[in-house]
Amino acid sequence: MRNWNLLLTAALLASMSAAAQQSAEQQPSAQPTAPDATQTAQPAPQQAAPATDQPAPASQATPDASQSAPAAQAIPLPAATPAPTTMDQVVNLFIEREHGLIKVLANRTPVVETYLQNLTADPQLGPVPSEDHYFLGRMDMGETVDRKDYLKEQDTSMQARLLGGFHKLYKVQYQPLGFSWMVYADRTDFDREHYDFRYARREFLGDVRCLVFDVTPKPKSGRGRFLGRIWVEDQGFNIVRLNGTYYPAAHNTYFFHMDSWRLNLIPGYWVPSFIYSEEGDFSAGVKNRMAFKAQTRIWGYDLKKGGKDDELTNIRVDSVTDESTNAQDASPLQAERVWQQQAEDNVVERLTNAGLLAPEGDLDRILQTVVNNLEVTNNIDLPRPVRTRVLLTSPLETFSVGNTIVISRGLIDVLPDEASLAAVLSHELAHIVLGHNLGSKYAFNDRMLFDDDSTYQNLGFKHIPEEETAADKKALDLLKNSPYAQKLDNVGLFLKALQLRAPQLGALLTTHLGNPLAENGQVVRLSALETQGPALDNNKLDQIAALPLGGRVKINPWNDKAEMVKAAPVAITSARDKMPFEVTPFFPRLARFTAAAAATAPAPAPTTAAANSGSGN
Ligand SMILES: [Zn+2]
Repeated sequence: MRNWNLLLTAALLASMSAAAQQSAEQQPSAQPTAPDATQTAQPAPQQAAPATDQPAPASQATPDASQSAPAAQAIPLPAATPAPTTMDQVVNLFIEREHGLIKVLANRTPVVETYLQNLTADPQLGPVPSEDHYFLGRMDMGETVDRKDYLKEQDTSMQARLLGGFHKLYKVQYQPLGFSWMVYADRTDFDREHYDFRYARREFLGDVRCLVFDVTPKPKSGRGRFLGRIWVEDQGFNIVRLNGTYYPAAHNTYFFHMDSWRLNLIPGYWVPSFIYSEEGDFSAGVKNRMAFKAQTRIWGYDLKKGGKDDELTNIRVDSVTDESTNAQDASPLQAERVWQQQAEDNVVERLTNAGLLAPEGDLDRILQTVVNNLEVTNNIDLPRPVRTRVLLTSPLETFSVGNTIVISRGLIDVLPDEASLAAVLSHELAHIVLGHNLGSKYAFNDRMLFDDDSTYQNLGFKHIPEEETAADKKALDLLKNSPYAQKLDNVGLFLKALQLRAPQLGALLTTHLGNPLAENGQVVRLSALETQGPALDNNKLDQIAALPLGGRVKINPWNDKAEMVKAAPVAITSARDKMPFEVTPFFPRLARFTAAAAATAPAPAPTTAAANSGSGN
């Protein structure tokens, strides 16, 4: 059994292991659509005159109702419309569909996260982060779009700088303030009175054939109108991508350039999911210019509004009664364990309901396999199995509550290989083995009754320094007895890369629930391993110490499920391609909704990945 488990890892973790071959270009799905995609992809009829170009038949304009996912049943499908025969009719259709989307999402309050890196020019590496900023909140998609913040400490100077005269960056109204506004082209006036629409061409985005239109505001149609390009899929005529800015700006106002992507997560609708923003001049010698890159991610569309709606489910007493059906009285130790499990279950459920934890899924099986490798080779036998869950946010963070280890999406993204993943997990496993459990107070359900946006004020899993030191020491022992013992050089490289960038990445390294990996610009986690392995050398193209953000984990913004990105390795051709811990544009591989993709059953383990991604390191 134990050997079998180790073998399983080899297959499951292939995608974690080929670090040297991993691309710095990986995105939520790295399949950049070439400009000539229409020629290379699928039979897109190349018709000459756009104005009379007949769009594809809209026979599937209304998706098959039988495809409805359970979560989406409450959402009405768009009404069937006759197939358009002219581009004018297509414009009418996508305008109508855009208004339909605004209406359908009006009662949703998804989580919105923006991570921003200010840039400075490095002679060798090009633009590199000079400082960073992080924002997290819930966005009310209703009439007055609002953004409640999970993080109470606001960076006022940043707001002032980015928005000129505006100061309410994160109280996002639809008039474009901040980063989350580009979910729609124009919330109130997306119509022919305010805009001109000009057909440009056909283009494939991923698997989806699109009609591309240039959108310009009519003269004197008011400030802050969308100016740019939209991609409209050719079956339901929904907008799937917006790229551009808003125009004209009021005096002292600054509108960012944005690339906004939607995913077909529910039948009939394409839901705003990723927004990439970039601004400024990155070239060397440019001073006093604002230059940044930012990623905005939206998820948690299917969360309950607010979080207090389900008080009744929070008050139920579940696992205690389940466990005691064996008709035996609990010994004091058993009672203690059940109590701790109850606390653990409460926390996991509460964080999931707040839109901060992914539901248990595929990715957890990979994480649990790594934990299992550490346990098996160290003869660790715990009364309950160790579970893992993925925190959906970007800051690099791990913590544990009871027997559940939580690791953030951002941290999984930047880890170069399986050994480094094992290293960060070993620290939390060490806390569990050493009995450093902080969670038991959360067995009282009243402690779970708070608003989602005050989650970070109500939950916390930070250990005292003595426990941190003890866990690091124990983690080292665990690693040295594990299959990862020979690969700790890679962990050392990762920690060196982290140390190099830590002073500039304060926001990415600020944890909200657990202990930080680095404090005050100094790596503190597993620092004994920092001297391990070769020196960091940017010129060695096969030395990949850390990956850019967004390279590994893919989140479904509707149901929050996390899975590994399936991206083909792309060769790194210069030191600038490495981009450790950096923000890059999004290029999700678009695909139409299928019930299978939305189903709750975990997808099969990627057993073929081992063959595809080479030998690893
Ligand atoms: Zn710790």
